[in-house]
Amino acid sequence: MAGTVLVTGGTGYIGGEVVDQLLAKGCRVHTTVRNKQKSEPRLRERWPEAGERLKVFQADLMSDDGWVEANAGCDAVAHVASPFPLGRPKDKDELVIPAREGTLRALRFAKGAGITRFVQTSSAAAIAYGHPAQDHFDHTDWTNLDANVPPYIESKTVAERAAREWVQENAPEMVFCSVNPVAVFGPVYNDDLSTSIEMVKRIINGSIPLIPNMGICVTDVRDVAKAHILAIEAPADSVRDERFPTSVKFMWIGEMAECIRQRAPELSGKVPKRRMPDWLAHTLALFMPEMKQITGELGNVRDVSGKHTEEVLGFTFIPAEETLEVTARSLVERGIVKV
Ligand code: NAP
Repeated sequence: MAGTVLVTGGTGYIGGEVVDQLLAKGCRVHTTVRNKQKSEPRLRERWPEAGERLKVFQADLMSDDGWVEANAGCDAVAHVASPFPLGRPKDKDELVIPAREGTLRALRFAKGAGITRFVQTSSAAAIAYGHPAQDHFDHTDWTNLDANVPPYIESKTVAERAAREWVQENAPEMVFCSVNPVAVFGPVYNDDLSTSIEMVKRIINGSIPLIPNMGICVTDVRDVAKAHILAIEAPADSVRDERFPTSVKFMWIGEMAECIRQRAPELSGKVPKRRMPDWLAHTLALFMPEMKQITGELGNVRDVSGKHTEEVLGFTFIPAEETLEVTARSLVERGIVKV
């Protein structure tokens, strides 16, 4: 295993889990944050034992400052940081530019530091969109950008494509691969919730009174982090240029709600039971921007297979039902949701 790994975005949900697993393996970790003064105390509070094994650097995706220092002495990079907002931005460039420029910046500085192993956190957003007639996807599929996809989906697709082209042209010696998670759930550590966790929060806190007719694939943050680490550890030829979707299975939101009701009945008093008819979702979308975002997904199946990842990296994903239960329980245990 590499001795020192740079994890960009250690304040984030996935970045934090990657840092956690690396520290648990005895590695040294460098991590970048946008605001060191604000974020370092929070990181030190989560890993009080890490001491000098964890170094925190201030580096924004949109500026060169701090990147030389963050990469110095590292053996590998897990580039996790990227904007992942809950709402749709007014201008898509608020997402597309930092995602693309930030990835290229992280690659450029990694190359400058002589680092030859680079794992990018991409997304199923770069795999499964813009193909209206297709329900099942795997690591060989790419989102179709000609189809006018939402800005976040465009940002992840553009960033992954740009990274692959950059490595091919500028750093053929670099062993590059991506991890492409579907919607990420699992244990939470603080109230700075990732967009994906907001969905479970809203299911159990009663703020979704009716269940919309839509679904998503589920993956566990612990598996997403493990995939990054295995991709760093694996022999170069087994991971070079690979894409590693992490995905257990597709579930309708109604199935997710039912799963939480079955596995954590004491937390399920506010979990909705009744379905929202599609006509109501479309009507609400006229007034509520958040509903507008989901109406395009009503009735859609996007089942992304993670089988390739399990086979190549050699591990078995945590069952989706266990992940959803852990998510709900940790939201309540941390006092983030009152039931
Ligand atoms: P998150 O908790 O919101 O974390 C996002 C991280 O990116 C934070 O550390 C944030 O730093 C950092 N970041 C954002 N803009 C930045 C900028 N301009 N400069 C430097 N850092 C910046 O989200 P997450 O769920 O962990 O997502 C992490 C990655 O996984 C993203 O690349 C996302 O696209 C991808 N992903 C997530 C999911 C999911 O369901 N959660 C699924 C597929 C892929 P600050 O603390 O400074 O804001």
